[in-house]
Amino acid sequence: MELVEERPHRFRIDRRGRMRVPGVVFASRALLRDAEKSLEQVVHVATLPGIVAASYAMPDIHWGYGFPIGGVAATDVDDGGVVSPGGVGFDISCGVRLLAADVDRQALEPALPAVMDALDRAIPRGAGPGGVWRSIGPRQLERILRGGSQYAVAEGYGEERDLGRCEDGGAVADADVGQVSERARERGLGQVGSLGSGNHFLEVQQVDEVYDETAAAAFGLAAGQVCVMIHCGSRGLGHQTCTDHVRVMDRAMSRYGITVPDRQLACTPVESPEGQAYLGAMAAAANYGRANRQLLSDAARRIFRRTAGARLSLVYDVSHNLAKIETHPVAGVPRLLCVHRKGATRAFPPGHPDLPEDLREVGQPVLIPGTMGTASYVLAGVPGGDAFFSTCHGAGRVMSRHQAARAIGGKELRTRLEAQGIAVRPRSLRGLSEETPEAYKDVGAVVAASEGAGLCRTVARLVPLGVVKG
Ligand code: 5GP
Ligand code: MN
Ligand code: MN
Repeated sequence: MELVEERPHRFRIDRRGRMRVPGVVFASRALLRDAEKSLEQVVHVATLPGIVAASYAMPDIHWGYGFPIGGVAATDVDDGGVVSPGGVGFDISCGVRLLAADVDRQALEPALPAVMDALDRAIPRGAGPGGVWRSIGPRQLERILRGGSQYAVAEGYGEERDLGRCEDGGAVADADVGQVSERARERGLGQVGSLGSGNHFLEVQQVDEVYDETAAAAFGLAAGQVCVMIHCGSRGLGHQTCTDHVRVMDRAMSRYGITVPDRQLACTPVESPEGQAYLGAMAAAANYGRANRQLLSDAARRIFRRTAGARLSLVYDVSHNLAKIETHPVAGVPRLLCVHRKGATRAFPPGHPDLPEDLREVGQPVLIPGTMGTASYVLAGVPGGDAFFSTCHGAGRVMSRHQAARAIGGKELRTRLEAQGIAVRPRSLRGLSEETPEAYKDVGAVVAASEGAGLCRTVARLVPLGVVKG
């Protein structure tokens, strides 16, 4: 793939063939080693009807279903722009939340093993069923699909203040529960309040370094402080919703005269019945993911209070797999856009009206998990943020799960992590080895490239003390 370096950390893929816009890749040459297949996907996305500005890729780009993971694409709603489930991903509204404890590492140290054991027992995880809310019925599921974290808080699983620190106030509007299939609901019923598998986790961390004191203070973070990071999504319900709507769009596309270079890019206009049905179902599945994170943070809060006498306050909760209708200037003119962020995080700048008042001056917190053996980061949105105010979402995989499991055994990895002082509570040793830190890019390099590209700024670096792995 020919990449034109426009400036440090910004490369262009020129238009050719059916591309409607260029590709823009934020990265370094080193981060793009072995990225050929995912760069091909950036080119495919650039052919979608109504796409504006560019098909963007973040520094953590890697191969995904149709769209790359680490991709951002916006389409013009009033100009036949499409919505594509593959541009959101199977784990609808997968995302990250960070809670800050009112203790530092030293104060927590004696209680840490007991905290980890209690989390190990209390956090439902793995690929199958199991959740904090065990026996819910179809009516309660509908309330979750409409209300997300708001519903969980109303039921006593959180604090009113939490909602101000959640993207969208804890629930995406316009959920259309009628568009969530029977099969998706069935899968959802038994998994409310669960992590899921492998890449999802609940991690106890410590703030290792603060780079921006003002922003860190506004986020409620200081050096040495203990935090809890939760990464999970919408489980089987989200996956089934994506599957169902991809199938519908795949059949409907030709009626709209749409052809795509890869069937996995199945899409229809945002304004079409199929587009609206998907967006309604996506919002419902997103709310399931939000409720999931709310319930798991409540479980963590109870354990921290009981076992360590510590309080956890929500710093922020943000998705990295979602499509949103947002207004942004395109060539200087405000346009209504459908912004797909898949493995990419919204990063609103300081002053943005959608931010809670106490964060407005510093910008939106952006939460970047790295790996269970290295570090994770807290970033903030910046003025003039490119790619419709988006940035990276993680380190990004470089090895398949299979490759990773062959590279190291679960037992050996566990011993190595424990020797580094990281308490490990895996669901399975095989699952653990699939997530070995070597399976991911260097998160520090990804964050540096994102900041270098002008997408965000670095606020703090977090290191793991203990991990509960899905
Ligand atoms: P994804 O949403 O693409 O599955 O994962 C997002 C990111 O989470 C990955 O790119 C990776 O950097 C990070 N990640 C995966 N497992 C862990 C973990 O156990 N701990 C931390 N801190 N990050 C992880
Ligand atoms: Mn996920
Ligand atoms: Mn995720």
